[in-house]
Amino acid sequence: MVAMDGPSGTGKSTVSRKLATKLGAGYLDTGAMYRMVTLAVLRAGVDLADAVAIADVARKTELGIGTSPDEAAVTLAGEDVAAEIRGADVTTAVSPVSAVPAVRELLVARQREIIDEVLGRVGGIVVEGRDIGTVVSPDAPLKIFLTASAEVRAARRSAQDSAAGRESTHAVAKAAVERRDRLDSTRAASPLRAAEDAVEVDTSQLDIDQVIVALAELALHRGLLEGCPAEAAR
Ligand code: C5P
Repeated sequence: MVAMDGPSGTGKSTVSRKLATKLGAGYLDTGAMYRMVTLAVLRAGVDLADAVAIADVARKTELGIGTSPDEAAVTLAGEDVAAEIRGADVTTAVSPVSAVPAVRELLVARQREIIDEVLGRVGGIVVEGRDIGTVVSPDAPLKIFLTASAEVRAARRSAQDSAAGRESTHAVAKAAVERRDRLDSTRAASPLRAAEDAVEVDTSQLDIDQVIVALAELALHRGLLEGCPAEAAR
């Protein structure tokens, strides 16, 4: 198993998916799970300061998440919400929702179940998030912490938003990534931070393929994920 943590805009999702594909492993996007709960909270019209009501919505949310790196389906009670969870409303509200301890407890338990299931079925999994190496899987044999300068992260986010047809400027994207990282890093419940034994990789000057080559070598040197059949990750 590979734990992939780091702030937004470091290339975490692309790197995690490509690495999983290259290694024939499964893939889990834990950020998508927090985003789905956030969407459910927004749809329920719950006050973002009401932790009890947020936890209640989280408990009732029927979230579905796929583990194939090629196409990880995200569904709320069967409805495909892949595009909606990336929208500005969810992105703005996700940090307060994911700071609620009961939400984290619920999702961490679910994440551990999924990881165990995929490890048993496929043999390997790349899991991305903020607290994978510190809380979800502290025994993960390989932990990566991706970083990049705020400028680079804002540029990547802005390009991603534009490509997905969402309105974006560099200044707005920069303010948004900095705000979210501040909230994620300073919350009381499992804040964003690198595990002590994580390998820190600064992706500011690297392209995705260079990062993948470096990480795949690291994974293979540690004897991880060898022989995971890519097909089984579906
Ligand atoms: O990775 P992504 O940007 O989709 O994550 C969205 C948000 O979900 C993060 O800003 C953070 O608030 C929350 N998150 C978290 N723990 C994780 C993954 C994501 O708190 N393991």
